[in-house]
Formats: sequence, C-alpha cells, structure tokens
Amino acid sequence: MQAVEPRRDYGKLQLFIDGVWRESGAHEFRDTFNPATGEVIGRVPFSLHEEVGLAVEAGQRAFEKWRYVPIIERIKYLFRLKDTMEKHLEELATVNTQNHGKTLEESRGDLRRSIENVEVAIGAAYVLAKGESLDQIAPGIDVAMNKEPLGVFTLVCPFNFPVMIPFWFLPLAIVLGDTVVVKPSDITPLPMQWVAKLIQEEVALPPGVLNVVHGGKDVVEGLIAHRDVKGVTFVGSSPVARQVYKLAGEHGKRAISNGGAKNCIVIMPDADLDTSMSNIVSSFFGNAGQRCLAGANLLAVGDSHDAFMDKFVPAAAKLRLGYGLDEGVQMGPLVSEKARERVMGYVDSGLAEGAKAATDGRGARVPEHPGGFFLGATVLDGVTSDMKVSREEVFGPLASVIRTEKLDDAIEVINNGTAFGNMACIYTSSGRSAREFRVRADAGNIGVNIGVAAPSAYYAFGGRRDSFYGVLHAQIDAVDFFTDKKVTISKW
Ligand code: NAD
Repeated sequence: MQAVEPRRDYGKLQLFIDGVWRESGAHEFRDTFNPATGEVIGRVPFSLHEEVGLAVEAGQRAFEKWRYVPIIERIKYLFRLKDTMEKHLEELATVNTQNHGKTLEESRGDLRRSIENVEVAIGAAYVLAKGESLDQIAPGIDVAMNKEPLGVFTLVCPFNFPVMIPFWFLPLAIVLGDTVVVKPSDITPLPMQWVAKLIQEEVALPPGVLNVVHGGKDVVEGLIAHRDVKGVTFVGSSPVARQVYKLAGEHGKRAISNGGAKNCIVIMPDADLDTSMSNIVSSFFGNAGQRCLAGANLLAVGDSHDAFMDKFVPAAAKLRLGYGLDEGVQMGPLVSEKARERVMGYVDSGLAEGAKAATDGRGARVPEHPGGFFLGATVLDGVTSDMKVSREEVFGPLASVIRTEKLDDAIEVINNGTAFGNMACIYTSSGRSAREFRVRADAGNIGVNIGVAAPSAYYAFGGRRDSFYGVLHAQIDAVDFFTDKKVTISKW
C-alpha cells in the first residue's frame, strides 16, 4: 500500500471543545517532533486551567442530552466512526508514523486495533449494556438492575500508541452514554488530533461528546480534580500511573491506571526456534521496543542459550533501521532524543555491571536522516537478575539475555526479579511446561509461543503489580467502569 504525502508542519495545535476547534491561550507550548528526521512538526499547547474547565463543562452539558439518545442511535455514530477510520487509515497511519516513528506497517496495526475496539464497542452496547431483573424476590416485589452512564470521563494517554490506547476506552464510553475529554500524549499528540478532526468532519458527534485538550501534569491533575469528571483512564509509566490512581482516590473518582512493564520471554530447550524466531525478534524490537508488551528480558532455560543466540543475534543485527515511511524499513527511531539517551544509558549500565554486547546498536546510523533519534537493535548477553538493566523498564530496542537453570528459576525472575507484571511469554513444545507457566507466572497477559500477548478488544487488558492500579481493566472490562449499576425494587 502506498503512503499518503505527509505534511511538513502541523503548526500550533488547537483544542477541541464543545464541537469547535479553538486556539489555546496557553503560556507554554512545546515542540512535537518527527523522530525520524529530528524536525519539529508541531507545537503543543499546555492548556490553561480555564480551558480544562471549559472542556469538562462542555462534556457535562453534552452528557445531559447524550445519555438520553437511544442506544441504537449512539451505535450509528460508531458505525460512522468505523467507516471514517477505515476510509482514512492510510492518512492516519502516515501521521502516526511521522509523529511516533514506528514503521507504516506498525501504524496500520495500531489503527486496525483501534477499529477493532470500535467494532467491539458496537457489539458490547447491544449485549453488555443490558441490565437484569428478578421477579418475586418477595410476594409481589420485583427487582431490576440498570446500567447507567455516569457523565464525563477523562482519558490520559501515553506516547507509544497514539490512537489505539485512546480507543481502548473512547468508543465504549460514548456508546454507553458518557462523554469524554481526551488528553493525548504531549510527545505524540498529532495522530489523535487528526482523528478528532475526522470525527468532527465525518462522524458529527453532538458537540461536547468528545473534547480534546493538550498538556501535561497540571492538565491531568486539573481534569481529575474537576467536580464534573467522574473517572479517569490512564495509561503510561508506573510512577505516574500510581500518582494518578492516588489522586483519583483522593477526589473520589473511578480510575483504571495502567503502568509500565518489564516483560520476560522464556526460551525452553524444547522451543521450536525455527518457527518462532521472527515472532521473538518482533517482540523485542517491534515499535523499536516501545511497547508495553515488548520483550525486555530473555530468559534462556537450561541448554537453550547457544542455539537461541545463534539465530537471535544475527536476526536482530540485520533489522533495517530507518524512517518508517520509507519502503523496507523494519525498525524506526526512538520517540525522542531523551528516550534514545535513556536507553543508551541502560546499555552502558549493563556493560558496567558485567554484561557483554552480542550486538550493539549504539553506533547505528541512517545516513539519509542524520537528525533522527535512531538506535539499532542491541542484545546484552550475560545479564543477571540483580543488574539494573534487568530490573527496570528500559522501553527501547534492548534485549537482556539471562541464563537460568530450570523453568522454576525463570518463573522466580518473572515474579520477583522486577516489580512489573504486564506480560510473560514462554516458547516450548511441552504442554506441561506451558500450563505450569500460565498458572504460576504473575502477569496479566501470558504468551505461549507468542511474543506479544496482545488480547483482542473483546477481552480485558491489564497487568499486575506495578503494571496496573485498579480493578476493572481496559477494553471490554471497561463497560462496568463507564456505567453504574442502579437497582430498583418495585411493588405495584
Ligand atoms: P508517561 O507516564 O510519561 O505519560 C503518560 C501520560 O501522562 C501523558 O499523557 C503525559 O502527558 C501524562 N503525564 C506525565 N507526567 C504526569 C504527571 N506527573 N501527572 C499526571 N500526568 C502526567 O508515559 P509515556 O512515556 O507517555 O509512555 C510510556 C509508558 O507507558 C511506558 O512506561 C509504558 O510501559 C507505558 N505503557 C503502558 C501500557 C499498559 O497497558 N500498561 C500501554 C502503553 C504504554
């Protein structure tokens, strides 16, 4: 498929409030980049407190009417949203790649998953929004439970899936009768801005059902504290996820708060490496390692190490680095120069603690784009579970290879070697090992011979321990987050 021509500059981003685009009166604007070229392609306002208030008030006014729009009518907007996303998929994928850096194919995947969430929201509205009833709980007395929408929700989003992550929540919230204020990442705000523009032009949601404000900590805190905001969905790093969860609690708000990750991939001696290798490589280096479901620690069990490294290291080293819009590129840059420096710092720290570089991407260059934030795939061998590089989230194209004697030891590293529990995967041809792993690994998502255990939108998505704060999860689980159960007892 052919990419559409990218714009060079998106200028100053506006805010979308009450169905209208408006200039922000912000005192602070930050640059947003094309990480492959290093060029500034837009300027993000850090919205004023009053602007946050206007967005929430627009959401609240819209809610008073939107909640009474018959669900069958609300679903029609989602059908239009799906059509719009399908029609503009290439254009959106281009903006996504331009602002995030991932390859065009990865951007298409991001959007396909966004669309899948729209489809599932349509189905969920028909099936899961229904309440239940029971007659005769006492003579002549019946009881019924209805699921009611609550009001305005705010969706706070990370940089790495600029459209898919807002779409874990947005279609469900609006189809259930709530309204939303989206706060995209201040690093990659353009793709969601583009989606909002398309929604305004082609979906024509009633004003105030969807609002978009930009900014950082102050905006998020202002949103959570606002009297009319009923809940927050947050996806981002663990320290902020924890802080957001705490703040939501202090204000008596609902929260789904997804944090960071440090995912372990276990290779058993009986793993079928030939069929699995491309999948394992993509787990570590897809999206340049900037996925909450990216492999980070490779746990080589027993004598699997040498055969694994013989295949893994050359496959990683030959990944073609470049601008995601260019043909044949397999890995894009990191999202920012700061992210690149952070990941390189972890490589240095691993080497200083005694690991050896089996392949080192720090010297990789993309001559056509000298200003890009590129870092080649890097594999550190001889890592141990007490090294910083194996315990902390790196979020980049770095694989740390740790040898373990038995599956038990690998599970110990997964459960106690890091504070995170987003995903754990095993490659094996033994059903017994796979089952033991599934039961004992303390992570919210388990992969068996799959390196990115991304569930479909009709399953809950969330991690454990520092990877998640809350009870209900993203995707389909959020039906109960965006509605409240009202129970009526009647006697006539
Ligand atoms: P981040 O925590 O820096 O930012 C996330 C969002 O929070 C952004 O919108 C940002 O503007 C806002 N923010 C930043 N500091 C804040 C503060 N002090 N108070 C309130 N809001 C604040 O995360 P990021 O760098 O954009 O994204 C990468 C992180 O997200 C990684 O840790 C990754 O593992 C995680 N992530 C997790 C999941 C998941 O499902 N668990 C999915 C994707 C990404």
